[in-house]
Amino acid sequence: MGKKLQSQFPESGVDIRDDMICRLSAAKIASPRLEAGIILQKAAPSYPNLTAEEKAAAYAMLSRRLRHEPLDKIIGCREFYKSVFKVNGDVLSPRPDTEILVEKALALLPEDSEIRILDLGTGSGCILLSLLAERKQAVGVGLDISPAALAVAAENAEALGLGGRCRLLAGSWNDTLFSPGSFDIIVSNPPYIAHDEIEKLDTEVKDFDPPVALDGGADGYGCYREIAALAPVVLKKGGFILLESGAGQAERIAEIFIRGGLELVETAKDLAGINRCVILKK
Ligand code: GLN
Repeated sequence: MGKKLQSQFPESGVDIRDDMICRLSAAKIASPRLEAGIILQKAAPSYPNLTAEEKAAAYAMLSRRLRHEPLDKIIGCREFYKSVFKVNGDVLSPRPDTEILVEKALALLPEDSEIRILDLGTGSGCILLSLLAERKQAVGVGLDISPAALAVAAENAEALGLGGRCRLLAGSWNDTLFSPGSFDIIVSNPPYIAHDEIEKLDTEVKDFDPPVALDGGADGYGCYREIAALAPVVLKKGGFILLESGAGQAERIAEIFIRGGLELVETAKDLAGINRCVILKK
């Protein structure tokens, strides 16, 4: 019954925007007015005088949103740091929480230096490409296990004019793809949700972000342990690694990397005051 209701057009005389707001509110979407506006802007630019195609497109988007698919995945893009990134179901949606990683990395990278950046689990490419956009002499490698995610990252790199300064590679981070001492800085937002916790996440995350981008193994720290084996080898002496951490994980992540031979520089909080970024030095 729900499905039928969701795809029905409003009765004649009912404004489409009002109808959308009403349905989004009923589905407990947090910002129904804003989201109705965004859907109409994307699907039906001639609102309020929509064509039949626009109306169908707008309602197709609405019915996806009513099933709690994230809006960015429906409209196909999301802002992160200073750019707009293509997103789809093959990549983790960029989160504002992750922008602290970009800010902290930039603070460590002099303006005109010819640095080499490695992004482990690059996904949409949002971290790596944001850094390359700000540091014009830098080059970078984005590694990801998912070829589908790398295809999205490649589109983003081209769209931002950064394709010439980044290489996108398929592989896992225990692969020995790199020579020792190849990178000045490593950034990573790896999967860090403990396997059994995934089903407790919001529908928007657990059903629409790719599981491979979320699942950090039995205790959530599996990827950090693998990265801790790779990072001290591929970083230059004096180089930095910046890792995103889940809520409550920063201390243990720091320990894992200190045991791997790196030195803790700081942990930094996100906008919500959660320790979100662990920074270490070789
Ligand atoms: N930050 C994501 C979340 O809130 C998780 C991303 C990750 O595992 N790196 O669910």
